[in-house]
Amino acid sequence: MTGLNQWLRLIVLFLVCFTLAAYGWFILGGAKTEYIVTPKNSKYKIIDDSIQNGATTATLGIRNSDVLLECNLINQAKWPFCEIAISLTDSVEKGIDLSSYHSVGLDIDYTSPLNGERVRVYLRNFDPAYANTNDSLSLKFNAIEYSPGIDAGLQVFPLHSFQVLSWWIAENNIPVDKSNRQFDNISIIEIATGSYVKESYYAIKLNRIVFYGEWITESSLVRLLLLLWVITAVIIMIIERIILHKKIKNTEEHSLRLRDANRQLYNKSLKFEHLACTDPLTRIRNRHTVTEWLKEITIQTQRNQIPFSMIFIDLDYFKSVNDTYGHSFGDEVLIKFAATVERLIRRSDVFARWGGEEFVIFCPETNMGTAVEIAEIIRETIATKDWGFDREFNLTCSLGVAELVDETSEDLINRVDLALLKAKKMGRNRIEISWEHQQLK
Ligand code: GH3
Ligand code: MG
Ligand code: MG
Repeated sequence: MTGLNQWLRLIVLFLVCFTLAAYGWFILGGAKTEYIVTPKNSKYKIIDDSIQNGATTATLGIRNSDVLLECNLINQAKWPFCEIAISLTDSVEKGIDLSSYHSVGLDIDYTSPLNGERVRVYLRNFDPAYANTNDSLSLKFNAIEYSPGIDAGLQVFPLHSFQVLSWWIAENNIPVDKSNRQFDNISIIEIATGSYVKESYYAIKLNRIVFYGEWITESSLVRLLLLLWVITAVIIMIIERIILHKKIKNTEEHSLRLRDANRQLYNKSLKFEHLACTDPLTRIRNRHTVTEWLKEITIQTQRNQIPFSMIFIDLDYFKSVNDTYGHSFGDEVLIKFAATVERLIRRSDVFARWGGEEFVIFCPETNMGTAVEIAEIIRETIATKDWGFDREFNLTCSLGVAELVDETSEDLINRVDLALLKAKKMGRNRIEISWEHQQLK
Protein backbone atom coordinates (compact mmCIF):
# COMPACT_ATOMS: atom_id res chain seq x y z
CA MET A 1 0.00 0.00 0.00
CA THR A 2 2.89 2.37 0.72
CA GLY A 3 4.02 2.11 -2.90
CA LEU A 4 0.49 2.82 -4.06
CA ASN A 5 0.17 5.81 -1.73
CA GLN A 6 3.36 7.25 -3.17
CA TRP A 7 1.95 6.79 -6.67
CA LEU A 8 -1.32 8.33 -5.60
CA ARG A 9 0.48 11.40 -4.23
CA LEU A 10 2.43 11.74 -7.47
CA ILE A 11 -0.70 11.42 -9.61
CA VAL A 12 -2.60 14.00 -7.52
CA LEU A 13 0.40 16.35 -7.67
CA PHE A 14 0.57 15.93 -11.42
CA LEU A 15 -3.17 16.58 -11.77
CA VAL A 16 -2.98 19.73 -9.61
CA CYS A 17 -0.03 21.05 -11.66
CA PHE A 18 -1.74 20.14 -14.93
CA THR A 19 -5.01 21.80 -13.89
CA LEU A 20 -3.23 25.00 -12.79
CA ALA A 21 -1.10 25.05 -15.94
CA ALA A 22 -4.08 24.45 -18.24
CA TYR A 23 -6.16 27.12 -16.57
CA GLY A 24 -3.25 29.60 -16.44
CA TRP A 25 -2.56 28.94 -20.11
CA PHE A 26 -6.20 29.68 -20.88
CA ILE A 27 -6.25 32.89 -18.79
CA LEU A 28 -3.08 34.08 -20.53
CA GLY A 29 -4.75 33.62 -23.91
CA GLY A 30 -3.19 30.32 -24.95
CA ALA A 31 -6.44 29.14 -26.47
CA LYS A 32 -6.95 32.28 -28.56
CA THR A 33 -7.48 31.83 -32.25
CA GLU A 34 -7.91 34.33 -35.09
CA TYR A 35 -9.31 34.26 -38.59
CA ILE A 36 -8.04 37.10 -40.75
CA VAL A 37 -9.83 37.97 -43.98
CA THR A 38 -7.25 38.95 -46.62
CA PRO A 39 -7.26 39.36 -50.42
CA LYS A 40 -5.34 36.06 -50.48
CA ASN A 41 -8.01 33.88 -48.86
CA SER A 42 -11.08 35.65 -50.28
CA LYS A 43 -12.50 37.37 -53.35
CA TYR A 44 -13.58 41.00 -53.41
CA LYS A 45 -16.12 42.59 -55.71
CA ILE A 46 -18.32 45.65 -56.01
CA ILE A 47 -22.05 45.62 -55.65
CA ASP A 48 -23.96 48.83 -56.25
CA ASP A 49 -27.49 50.00 -56.90
CA SER A 50 -27.28 49.40 -60.65
CA ILE A 51 -29.23 46.17 -60.03
CA GLN A 52 -32.08 48.38 -58.79
CA ASN A 53 -31.82 50.72 -61.77
CA GLY A 54 -29.52 53.07 -59.88
CA ALA A 55 -26.86 55.28 -61.43
CA THR A 56 -24.13 54.93 -58.81
CA THR A 57 -20.70 54.14 -60.20
CA ALA A 58 -17.96 52.48 -58.20
CA THR A 59 -14.36 51.27 -58.54
CA LEU A 60 -12.48 48.77 -56.40
CA GLY A 61 -8.74 48.86 -55.86
CA ILE A 62 -7.25 45.76 -54.27
CA ARG A 63 -3.78 46.13 -52.82
CA ASN A 64 -1.66 43.79 -50.74
CA SER A 65 -2.85 44.96 -47.36
CA ASP A 66 -6.02 46.94 -48.03
CA VAL A 67 -8.94 47.36 -50.37
CA LEU A 68 -10.37 50.69 -51.50
CA LEU A 69 -13.90 51.15 -52.76
CA GLU A 70 -14.67 54.55 -54.26
CA CYS A 71 -18.10 55.44 -55.48
CA ASN A 72 -20.08 58.35 -56.78
CA LEU A 73 -23.45 57.88 -55.29
CA ILE A 74 -26.28 59.08 -57.50
CA ASN A 75 -29.70 59.60 -56.04
CA GLN A 76 -31.67 57.61 -58.57
CA ALA A 77 -32.45 54.21 -57.08
CA LYS A 78 -34.88 53.93 -54.18
CA TRP A 79 -32.02 52.98 -51.87
CA PRO A 80 -28.76 54.21 -53.45
CA PHE A 81 -25.70 52.36 -52.18
CA CYS A 82 -22.37 50.82 -53.03
CA GLU A 83 -20.51 48.08 -51.19
CA ILE A 84 -17.56 45.71 -51.04
CA ALA A 85 -18.73 42.09 -51.17
CA ILE A 86 -16.14 39.62 -49.91
CA SER A 87 -16.62 35.97 -50.85
CA LEU A 88 -14.90 33.80 -48.25
CA THR A 89 -15.29 30.62 -50.33
CA ASP A 90 -15.74 29.68 -53.94
CA SER A 91 -19.21 28.33 -53.45
CA VAL A 92 -21.94 30.34 -51.76
CA GLU A 93 -23.50 27.30 -50.03
CA LYS A 94 -20.23 26.17 -48.52
CA GLY A 95 -19.18 29.00 -46.28
CA ILE A 96 -17.01 29.14 -43.19
CA ASP A 97 -18.16 28.17 -39.72
CA LEU A 98 -17.54 31.28 -37.61
CA SER A 99 -19.82 30.22 -34.75
CA SER A 100 -16.86 29.41 -32.50
CA TYR A 101 -15.61 33.00 -32.76
CA HIS A 102 -16.93 35.52 -30.26
CA SER A 103 -16.11 38.84 -31.93
CA VAL A 104 -14.97 40.57 -35.07
CA GLY A 105 -12.44 43.40 -35.44
CA LEU A 106 -12.99 45.90 -38.25
CA ASP A 107 -10.44 48.47 -39.40
CA ILE A 108 -12.20 50.66 -41.93
CA ASP A 109 -11.62 54.25 -43.05
CA TYR A 110 -14.83 55.81 -44.29
CA THR A 111 -14.80 58.97 -46.40
CA SER A 112 -18.27 60.57 -46.57
CA PRO A 113 -19.71 64.07 -46.97
CA LEU A 114 -20.78 64.27 -43.34
CA ASN A 115 -18.74 63.42 -40.26
CA GLY A 116 -19.61 60.26 -38.31
CA GLU A 117 -21.55 58.58 -41.08
CA ARG A 118 -22.10 54.86 -40.61
CA VAL A 119 -21.36 51.85 -42.75
CA ARG A 120 -23.35 48.64 -42.76
CA VAL A 121 -21.52 45.36 -42.19
CA TYR A 122 -23.27 42.12 -43.13
CA LEU A 123 -22.16 38.60 -42.35
CA ARG A 124 -24.18 36.54 -44.81
CA ASN A 125 -25.05 33.03 -43.75
CA PHE A 126 -26.21 30.25 -46.04
CA ASP A 127 -28.63 27.67 -44.72
CA PRO A 128 -30.69 25.47 -47.09
CA ALA A 129 -33.61 25.95 -44.68
CA TYR A 130 -34.10 29.45 -46.10
CA ALA A 131 -31.40 30.19 -48.72
CA ASN A 132 -30.81 29.11 -52.29
CA THR A 133 -27.85 29.65 -54.57
CA ASN A 134 -29.85 31.52 -57.25
CA ASP A 135 -31.02 34.29 -54.99
CA SER A 136 -28.23 36.28 -53.30
CA LEU A 137 -30.81 38.04 -51.10
CA SER A 138 -31.86 34.71 -49.58
CA LEU A 139 -28.66 34.48 -47.47
CA LYS A 140 -29.31 35.63 -43.93
CA PHE A 141 -28.29 39.21 -43.07
CA ASN A 142 -26.43 39.31 -39.75
CA ALA A 143 -25.88 43.05 -39.58
CA ILE A 144 -24.39 45.91 -37.63
CA GLU A 145 -24.13 49.57 -38.49
CA TYR A 146 -21.33 51.67 -37.07
CA SER A 147 -19.33 54.76 -37.71
CA PRO A 148 -15.75 53.79 -38.63
CA GLY A 149 -14.34 57.33 -39.03
CA ILE A 150 -10.89 57.73 -40.52
CA ASP A 151 -7.71 56.30 -39.00
CA ALA A 152 -9.69 55.04 -36.00
CA GLY A 153 -7.91 51.70 -36.20
CA LEU A 154 -9.36 48.34 -35.32
CA GLN A 155 -12.77 48.38 -33.65
CA VAL A 156 -13.96 45.14 -32.11
CA PHE A 157 -17.62 44.06 -31.98
CA PRO A 158 -18.98 40.98 -30.27
CA LEU A 159 -20.77 38.74 -32.73
CA HIS A 160 -23.82 38.75 -30.50
CA SER A 161 -24.23 42.46 -31.25
CA PHE A 162 -25.17 41.56 -34.84
CA GLN A 163 -28.90 41.59 -35.60
CA VAL A 164 -30.83 39.82 -38.32
CA LEU A 165 -32.47 42.46 -40.52
CA SER A 166 -36.21 42.50 -39.97
CA TRP A 167 -37.11 43.22 -43.63
CA TRP A 168 -35.16 40.08 -44.64
CA ILE A 169 -37.12 38.03 -42.08
CA ALA A 170 -40.40 39.47 -43.31
CA GLU A 171 -39.68 39.21 -47.05
CA ASN A 172 -38.43 35.64 -46.85
CA ASN A 173 -41.11 34.47 -44.43
CA ILE A 174 -38.48 33.13 -42.05
CA PRO A 175 -39.87 31.03 -39.17
CA VAL A 176 -39.10 32.19 -35.63
CA ASP A 177 -36.60 29.41 -34.91
CA LYS A 178 -34.52 30.52 -37.93
CA SER A 179 -34.65 34.26 -37.36
CA ASN A 180 -31.80 34.48 -34.88
CA ARG A 181 -28.26 35.48 -35.81
CA GLN A 182 -26.34 32.60 -37.33
CA PHE A 183 -22.65 32.27 -38.16
CA ASP A 184 -22.17 28.57 -38.89
CA ASN A 185 -21.92 28.94 -42.68
CA ILE A 186 -20.81 32.46 -43.56
CA SER A 187 -19.92 32.74 -47.23
CA ILE A 188 -20.06 36.48 -47.85
CA ILE A 189 -19.09 39.59 -45.87
CA GLU A 190 -20.47 42.87 -47.12
CA ILE A 191 -19.41 46.39 -46.18
CA ALA A 192 -21.85 48.91 -47.57
CA THR A 193 -22.50 52.63 -47.40
CA GLY A 194 -24.94 53.64 -44.66
CA SER A 195 -28.73 53.69 -44.69
CA TYR A 196 -29.05 57.43 -45.17
CA VAL A 197 -26.71 58.61 -47.92
CA LYS A 198 -26.89 61.53 -50.30
CA GLU A 199 -25.52 62.17 -53.71
CA SER A 200 -21.80 62.48 -53.17
CA TYR A 201 -18.38 60.82 -53.27
CA TYR A 202 -17.92 57.95 -50.81
CA ALA A 203 -14.87 55.85 -50.15
CA ILE A 204 -14.60 52.70 -48.01
CA LYS A 205 -11.01 51.72 -47.29
CA LEU A 206 -10.94 48.28 -45.75
CA ASN A 207 -7.67 47.74 -43.87
CA ARG A 208 -8.42 44.64 -41.88
CA ILE A 209 -11.11 42.17 -40.82
CA VAL A 210 -10.23 39.75 -38.01
CA PHE A 211 -12.44 37.24 -36.24
CA TYR A 212 -11.45 36.42 -32.66
CA GLY A 213 -12.23 33.21 -30.88
CA GLU A 214 -10.92 30.53 -28.56
CA TRP A 215 -10.58 26.99 -29.76
CA ILE A 216 -11.82 25.84 -26.41
CA THR A 217 -14.24 27.76 -24.22
CA GLU A 218 -13.65 28.27 -20.51
CA SER A 219 -16.59 26.07 -19.54
CA SER A 220 -15.41 23.27 -21.89
CA LEU A 221 -11.92 23.45 -20.39
CA VAL A 222 -13.31 23.25 -16.84
CA ARG A 223 -15.52 20.33 -17.88
CA LEU A 224 -12.56 18.54 -19.47
CA LEU A 225 -10.39 19.04 -16.38
CA LEU A 226 -13.21 17.79 -14.17
CA LEU A 227 -13.59 14.73 -16.38
CA LEU A 228 -9.85 14.11 -16.13
CA TRP A 229 -10.08 14.15 -12.31
CA VAL A 230 -13.10 11.84 -12.27
CA ILE A 231 -11.53 9.34 -14.72
CA THR A 232 -8.28 9.33 -12.73
CA ALA A 233 -10.19 8.76 -9.48
CA VAL A 234 -12.12 5.87 -11.03
CA ILE A 235 -8.92 4.29 -12.42
CA ILE A 236 -7.19 4.64 -9.03
CA MET A 237 -10.18 3.03 -7.31
CA ILE A 238 -10.14 0.12 -9.77
CA ILE A 239 -6.37 -0.38 -9.34
CA GLU A 240 -6.76 -0.25 -5.55
CA ARG A 241 -9.46 -2.91 -5.69
CA ILE A 242 -7.33 -5.15 -7.93
CA ILE A 243 -4.32 -4.82 -5.60
CA LEU A 244 -6.47 -5.47 -2.53
CA HIS A 245 -8.03 -8.49 -4.21
CA LYS A 246 -4.58 -9.84 -5.07
CA LYS A 247 -3.37 -9.30 -1.50
CA ILE A 248 -6.36 -11.10 -0.03
CA LYS A 249 -5.80 -13.97 -2.48
CA ASN A 250 -2.12 -14.14 -1.55
CA THR A 251 -2.93 -14.13 2.16
CA GLU A 252 -5.52 -16.86 1.65
CA GLU A 253 -3.06 -18.94 -0.34
CA HIS A 254 -0.41 -18.39 2.31
CA SER A 255 -2.68 -19.46 5.14
CA LEU A 256 -3.84 -22.45 3.08
CA ARG A 257 -0.21 -23.48 2.59
CA LEU A 258 0.37 -23.04 6.33
CA ARG A 259 -2.68 -25.15 7.09
CA ASP A 260 -1.47 -27.82 4.71
CA ALA A 261 1.94 -27.82 6.34
CA ASN A 262 0.36 -28.03 9.76
CA ARG A 263 -1.96 -30.79 8.64
CA GLN A 264 0.99 -32.78 7.30
CA LEU A 265 2.82 -32.31 10.58
CA TYR A 266 -0.31 -33.35 12.43
CA ASN A 267 -0.79 -36.48 10.33
CA LYS A 268 2.84 -37.33 10.79
CA SER A 269 2.61 -37.04 14.50
CA LEU A 270 -0.42 -39.33 14.51
CA LYS A 271 1.87 -42.17 13.52
CA PHE A 272 3.70 -44.06 16.15
CA GLU A 273 6.55 -45.62 14.24
CA HIS A 274 9.16 -44.00 16.45
CA LEU A 275 7.45 -44.93 19.68
CA ALA A 276 6.38 -48.50 19.11
CA CYS A 277 6.06 -49.44 22.71
CA THR A 278 3.23 -51.90 23.21
CA ASP A 279 1.69 -53.34 26.32
CA PRO A 280 3.03 -56.91 26.67
CA LEU A 281 -0.32 -58.38 27.79
CA THR A 282 -2.88 -56.77 25.45
CA ARG A 283 -0.47 -55.91 22.57
CA ILE A 284 -1.93 -52.42 22.35
CA ARG A 285 -0.08 -49.17 23.08
CA ASN A 286 0.91 -48.43 26.65
CA ARG A 287 0.35 -45.29 28.69
CA HIS A 288 3.93 -44.06 28.42
CA THR A 289 3.76 -44.07 24.63
CA VAL A 290 0.62 -42.04 24.54
CA THR A 291 1.24 -39.28 27.09
CA GLU A 292 4.15 -37.66 25.17
CA TRP A 293 2.28 -37.96 21.91
CA LEU A 294 -0.85 -36.51 23.51
CA LYS A 295 0.95 -33.32 24.58
CA GLU A 296 2.10 -32.62 21.02
CA ILE A 297 -1.17 -33.56 19.34
CA THR A 298 -3.15 -31.34 21.74
CA ILE A 299 -1.12 -28.27 20.71
CA GLN A 300 -1.39 -29.02 16.99
CA THR A 301 -5.09 -29.78 17.22
CA GLN A 302 -5.76 -26.46 18.91
CA ARG A 303 -3.58 -24.57 16.39
CA ASN A 304 -5.43 -26.11 13.47
CA GLN A 305 -8.81 -25.81 15.18
CA ILE A 306 -9.57 -29.47 14.58
CA PRO A 307 -11.92 -31.32 16.95
CA PHE A 308 -10.33 -33.94 19.18
CA SER A 309 -12.08 -36.24 21.67
CA MET A 310 -11.06 -38.75 24.29
CA ILE A 311 -12.80 -41.80 25.76
CA PHE A 312 -11.77 -43.28 29.10
CA ILE A 313 -12.86 -46.91 29.80
CA ASP A 314 -12.73 -48.80 33.12
CA LEU A 315 -13.92 -52.39 33.46
CA ASP A 316 -16.58 -52.75 36.14
CA TYR A 317 -15.91 -54.87 39.24
CA PHE A 318 -12.79 -56.38 37.71
CA LYS A 319 -11.33 -57.14 41.05
CA SER A 320 -14.15 -59.65 41.62
CA VAL A 321 -13.45 -61.21 38.19
CA ASN A 322 -9.97 -61.96 39.41
CA ASP A 323 -11.29 -63.05 42.74
CA THR A 324 -13.90 -65.33 41.21
CA TYR A 325 -12.08 -66.85 38.24
CA GLY A 326 -8.45 -66.32 38.96
CA HIS A 327 -5.81 -63.85 37.78
CA SER A 328 -4.95 -65.63 34.55
CA PHE A 329 -8.62 -65.71 33.61
CA GLY A 330 -8.64 -61.99 34.27
CA ASP A 331 -5.63 -61.62 31.94
CA GLU A 332 -7.51 -63.54 29.27
CA VAL A 333 -10.49 -61.19 29.66
CA LEU A 334 -8.22 -58.15 29.35
CA ILE A 335 -6.72 -59.52 26.10
CA LYS A 336 -10.15 -60.31 24.66
CA PHE A 337 -11.49 -56.95 25.76
CA ALA A 338 -8.62 -55.07 24.03
CA ALA A 339 -9.04 -57.10 20.83
CA THR A 340 -12.80 -56.45 20.80
CA VAL A 341 -12.42 -52.70 21.27
CA GLU A 342 -9.70 -52.54 18.63
CA ARG A 343 -12.13 -54.01 16.12
CA LEU A 344 -14.81 -51.46 17.03
CA ILE A 345 -12.75 -48.29 16.68
CA ARG A 346 -11.58 -46.56 13.50
CA ARG A 347 -8.10 -46.68 11.96
CA SER A 348 -7.47 -43.10 12.97
CA ASP A 349 -8.36 -43.69 16.63
CA VAL A 350 -5.54 -44.33 19.07
CA PHE A 351 -6.24 -47.05 21.64
CA ALA A 352 -3.98 -47.57 24.64
CA ARG A 353 -3.90 -49.36 27.98
CA TRP A 354 -3.83 -46.70 30.65
CA GLY A 355 -3.05 -49.16 33.46
CA GLY A 356 -4.66 -52.19 35.12
CA GLU A 357 -8.19 -52.55 33.69
CA GLU A 358 -8.31 -48.95 32.43
CA PHE A 359 -8.10 -48.03 28.75
CA VAL A 360 -8.15 -44.83 26.68
CA ILE A 361 -9.21 -44.07 23.13
CA PHE A 362 -8.07 -40.82 21.48
CA CYS A 363 -10.21 -39.79 18.55
CA PRO A 364 -8.49 -37.21 16.30
CA GLU A 365 -10.75 -35.03 14.10
CA THR A 366 -13.75 -36.25 16.09
CA ASN A 367 -16.28 -34.13 17.94
CA MET A 368 -18.11 -35.03 21.10
CA GLY A 369 -21.17 -36.42 19.33
CA THR A 370 -19.21 -38.97 17.30
CA ALA A 371 -17.05 -39.90 20.31
CA VAL A 372 -20.18 -40.63 22.34
CA GLU A 373 -21.49 -42.81 19.51
CA ILE A 374 -18.24 -44.81 19.52
CA ALA A 375 -18.35 -45.10 23.33
CA GLU A 376 -21.92 -46.38 23.22
CA ILE A 377 -21.04 -49.03 20.63
CA ILE A 378 -18.20 -50.22 22.88
CA ARG A 379 -20.36 -50.19 26.01
CA GLU A 380 -23.13 -52.20 24.38
CA THR A 381 -20.81 -54.65 22.62
CA ILE A 382 -18.98 -55.47 25.87
CA ALA A 383 -22.18 -55.78 27.88
CA THR A 384 -23.76 -58.22 25.41
CA LYS A 385 -20.66 -60.04 24.24
CA ASP A 386 -20.35 -63.80 24.21
CA TRP A 387 -16.83 -64.18 25.53
CA GLY A 388 -16.42 -67.79 24.39
CA PHE A 389 -15.44 -69.18 27.76
CA ASP A 390 -16.63 -72.62 28.84
CA ARG A 391 -18.46 -70.99 31.68
CA GLU A 392 -21.05 -68.28 31.99
CA PHE A 393 -19.29 -64.91 31.96
CA ASN A 394 -20.56 -61.33 31.73
CA LEU A 395 -18.66 -58.08 31.79
CA THR A 396 -19.57 -54.41 31.67
CA CYS A 397 -17.53 -51.27 31.48
CA SER A 398 -18.02 -47.61 32.33
CA LEU A 399 -16.92 -44.78 30.02
CA GLY A 400 -16.10 -41.08 30.31
CA VAL A 401 -16.07 -38.87 27.19
CA ALA A 402 -14.71 -35.34 26.64
CA GLU A 403 -13.82 -33.11 23.72
CA LEU A 404 -10.65 -31.01 23.82
CA VAL A 405 -11.14 -27.30 24.36
CA ASP A 406 -8.61 -24.57 25.06
CA GLU A 407 -6.79 -26.56 27.74
CA THR A 408 -3.75 -28.73 28.35
CA SER A 409 -3.70 -32.47 27.80
CA GLU A 410 -3.58 -32.92 31.59
CA ASP A 411 -6.77 -30.88 31.97
CA LEU A 412 -8.47 -33.01 29.34
CA ILE A 413 -7.41 -36.25 31.09
CA ASN A 414 -8.63 -34.91 34.44
CA ARG A 415 -11.99 -34.00 32.96
CA VAL A 416 -12.50 -37.34 31.28
CA ASP A 417 -11.38 -39.09 34.50
CA LEU A 418 -14.03 -37.16 36.44
CA ALA A 419 -16.65 -38.15 33.87
CA LEU A 420 -15.67 -41.82 34.30
CA LEU A 421 -15.86 -41.48 38.07
CA LYS A 422 -19.35 -40.11 37.68
CA ALA A 423 -20.32 -43.07 35.49
CA LYS A 424 -19.10 -45.40 38.24
CA LYS A 425 -21.04 -43.46 40.86
CA MET A 426 -24.19 -43.46 38.74
CA GLY A 427 -24.20 -47.29 38.71
CA ARG A 428 -21.63 -48.39 36.08
CA ASN A 429 -22.20 -49.84 32.56
CA ARG A 430 -22.84 -46.29 31.34
CA ILE A 431 -21.32 -43.27 29.64
CA GLU A 432 -20.83 -39.86 31.21
CA ILE A 433 -19.80 -36.73 29.33
CA SER A 434 -17.60 -33.87 30.50
CA TRP A 435 -18.76 -30.64 28.86
CA GLU A 436 -16.24 -27.92 28.33
CA HIS A 437 -18.01 -25.52 30.72
CA GLN A 438 -17.63 -28.04 33.56
CA GLN A 439 -14.80 -26.70 35.66
CA LEU A 440 -12.28 -29.00 37.20
CA LYS A 441 -12.61 -29.35 40.94
P1 GH3 B 1 -14.75 -50.69 39.69
O1 GH3 B 1 -15.97 -51.10 39.03
O2 GH3 B 1 -14.96 -49.63 40.72
O3 GH3 B 1 -13.73 -50.27 38.72
O4 GH3 B 1 -14.26 -51.95 40.41
P2 GH3 B 1 -12.93 -52.72 40.12
O5 GH3 B 1 -12.94 -53.93 40.95
O6 GH3 B 1 -12.77 -52.91 38.66
O7 GH3 B 1 -11.85 -51.70 40.57
P3 GH3 B 1 -10.54 -51.86 41.47
O8 GH3 B 1 -9.68 -50.65 41.19
O9 GH3 B 1 -10.93 -52.03 42.90
O10 GH3 B 1 -9.86 -53.16 40.95
C1 GH3 B 1 -9.11 -53.21 39.78
C2 GH3 B 1 -8.64 -54.58 39.62
O11 GH3 B 1 -8.07 -54.89 38.39
C3 GH3 B 1 -7.62 -54.90 40.66
C4 GH3 B 1 -6.59 -55.67 39.96
O12 GH3 B 1 -6.35 -56.93 40.52
C5 GH3 B 1 -7.12 -55.88 38.58
N1 GH3 B 1 -6.03 -55.84 37.64
C6 GH3 B 1 -5.23 -54.75 37.34
N2 GH3 B 1 -4.33 -55.11 36.40
C7 GH3 B 1 -4.53 -56.43 36.10
C8 GH3 B 1 -3.91 -57.32 35.20
O13 GH3 B 1 -2.98 -57.02 34.48
N3 GH3 B 1 -4.41 -58.61 35.17
C9 GH3 B 1 -5.45 -58.98 35.95
N4 GH3 B 1 -5.87 -60.22 35.84
N5 GH3 B 1 -6.04 -58.15 36.79
C10 GH3 B 1 -5.60 -56.88 36.89
MG1 MG C 1 -9.78 -49.10 37.72
MG1 MG D 1 -12.53 -51.18 37.34
